Amino acid sequence: MNELWERALESLRGRLSAENFDTWLAPVRCEGLEGDAVVLRIPNRFYADWITNHYNDLLLDALAEVWLDATDSPSRLRFEIDEALQAPPKRVELETPARPRARPAVRRDPTPVRFTDLNPKYSFDNFVVGPSNQLAHAACVAVGDAPGKRYNPLFIYGGVGLGKTHLMNAMGHTILRDKPDAVILYLSAERFTNEFIWSLQNHRIDEFRRRYREQCDVLLMDDIQFLAGRDQTQEEFFHTFNALYHSDRQIVVTSDVYPQQIVEMEERLISRFQSGMVADIQPPELDTRIAILKKKAEAEKIHLTDDVALFIAQHVKSNVRELEGTLLRIAVKAELLGRGIDLDLAKESLRASLPTNEQALTVEDVQRAVCTYFNIKLGDLKSKRRHRAVSYPRQVAMYLCRQRLGTSYPELGERFGGKDHTTVMSAVRKIDGLVEAEDEQTQRALEAVGRKLGL
Ligand code: ADP
Ligand code: MG
Repeated sequence: MNELWERALESLRGRLSAENFDTWLAPVRCEGLEGDAVVLRIPNRFYADWITNHYNDLLLDALAEVWLDATDSPSRLRFEIDEALQAPPKRVELETPARPRARPAVRRDPTPVRFTDLNPKYSFDNFVVGPSNQLAHAACVAVGDAPGKRYNPLFIYGGVGLGKTHLMNAMGHTILRDKPDAVILYLSAERFTNEFIWSLQNHRIDEFRRRYREQCDVLLMDDIQFLAGRDQTQEEFFHTFNALYHSDRQIVVTSDVYPQQIVEMEERLISRFQSGMVADIQPPELDTRIAILKKKAEAEKIHLTDDVALFIAQHVKSNVRELEGTLLRIAVKAELLGRGIDLDLAKESLRASLPTNEQALTVEDVQRAVCTYFNIKLGDLKSKRRHRAVSYPRQVAMYLCRQRLGTSYPELGERFGGKDHTTVMSAVRKIDGLVEAEDEQTQRALEAVGRKLGL
């Protein structure tokens, strides 16, 4: 039975997002069969509802597929709660980097390990500290050593791909190492929102509140800017925050902008965030970028010479994820070609990844060209003003940056005065709609600005 369960799970792995799979299915253990029901052990009540509502048919179908005689495959799921179960495959990886493919179906380890969503890849050991992230790093180390004490709440902000999620996870691991029983809830604000809405709809709100307000020792909430404009979830988070805060439990929040720049965020939440420690992460300086490349190369066993490291670091500046991605891309290429990584290969690879004729163009170039065309000020373009005389050019500029430069939504949000990525997305969608409708004003504007920029 366990083997069949494992096979069914494997077939589902590719069909769900990794996050959903790891969150909801990986911790589940199969107990066996009882009549026509498969008995599943789960960490808490929440899982039973979630799995029933989201994955019931999917799981039964997957089991039927691997069943020897499909006509008598199980037709129901039955759940048993086992709080000691909290067996995280992800934490197992912490000790053994290679992902264990077959998970033991029954956990025999006498010391229960709590389920956690922390990512084992991220630790303080593999985080490179430099002037750009020193403060945030120090604050996270301090919180990791003494959660709920000095820096509560801790608010970390910084652009995309600069290490916020990394630091947050590293902090979680440190706390767990000292206090293996601590209940650390690490999740994105998006997941908090989804769980909250689902709990409301399914009359499980009491359970939801117990989970986040009472049963949680440390709350690590990633990407809080997602709550922008979501009044009801903000309200819920506010009360969660207070409950934890007043019983000295640690709260850590990350955001892609400074607290006050989160658009459509309740003032009282912002002031809560500011009441603790606020630490920023800036894009790393050249030396830090080189150090990051070297650390990554070491971890991936890539032979990286100083001149190549310098070259890459000089050309990829604003995002550590891209920095690492570039290194890996070059390494893969070298392996395919059966040659070492030298400066020539690095140059070739980087040239290929930059769009040719647009490579010199920046977001700022587009913004200026749009301002000139519409005769408005750059400050207005980046402001929060919603008057059409300003908002329309802003949308056009966002659209052009996205289409022609391929800039990411979060980065665009930031470059246009700290707006949420969803704002940028809807702007791009809107102009896209106008283009499709062959709106004359929009066509004229895009053509003129494009010509000016040589696009
Ligand atoms: P964010 O959450 O701020 O968008 P992440 O924490 O996801 O960024 O970081 C993106 C990638 O860059 C991750 O793979 C992370 O390990 C790596 N990274 C970021 N900063 C550093 C650093 N200072 N040292 C080592 N790796 C880093
Ligand atoms: Mg992140």
